[in-house]
Amino acid sequence: MTIQVSRRGLLKGGAIALAGGSLGALGFGGLEPAMAAAVRPFKLAQMRETRNTCPYCSVACGVILYSLGDKSKNARSAVMHVEGDPDHPINRGTLCPKGSALLDFIQAETRTKYPLHREAGSKEFKRVSWDFAFERIARLMKEDRDKNFVAKNGDLTVNRWTTMGFLGASATSNETAWLTYKTVRSMGALVFDNQARV
Ligand code: SF4
Repeated sequence: MTIQVSRRGLLKGGAIALAGGSLGALGFGGLEPAMAAAVRPFKLAQMRETRNTCPYCSVACGVILYSLGDKSKNARSAVMHVEGDPDHPINRGTLCPKGSALLDFIQAETRTKYPLHREAGSKEFKRVSWDFAFERIARLMKEDRDKNFVAKNGDLTVNRWTTMGFLGASATSNETAWLTYKTVRSMGALVFDNQARV
């Protein structure tokens, strides 16, 4: 529906607005600051937004993490709110109940945030560096593959490695999933699944 406004009507509207603005001159000037003070500031306005992917299932909905902290050296960032990403092509801002409860998952005391290592015979897990974890995993995989790789089944070339299993993350992007598949399969691994099916 279009609204027709004549030149005369427009001038009338301008006159009314001018009269309203004159209220301040008539002693009602305190109204404006009082009204502004009554409006609550948008709670997330001062927060930093980080786009991410819900880690729970293969739908891989986009989320926005809202955190306090300006990344300065002594400030510790903390996620305060999570909501669906309205610009994400998969979920367009929506989240299922699991995704909506992501904040509890992020702030859970029992959440594993670092690589942990339990030495043979020990009952304790110890925190280790990512370098240590990658090196250790790669070393064990190499040793196992060298020992158990099967190149031939009779005359048939099979190039298979069945003693190592790999579980992909469901929240990976298409590109990461493609790379994971190529890496794992190129080593001959057959035992390969995705967390989305677990
Ligand atoms: S929000 Fe729900 S549907 Fe979307 S990825 Fe997370 S668990 Fe899956």
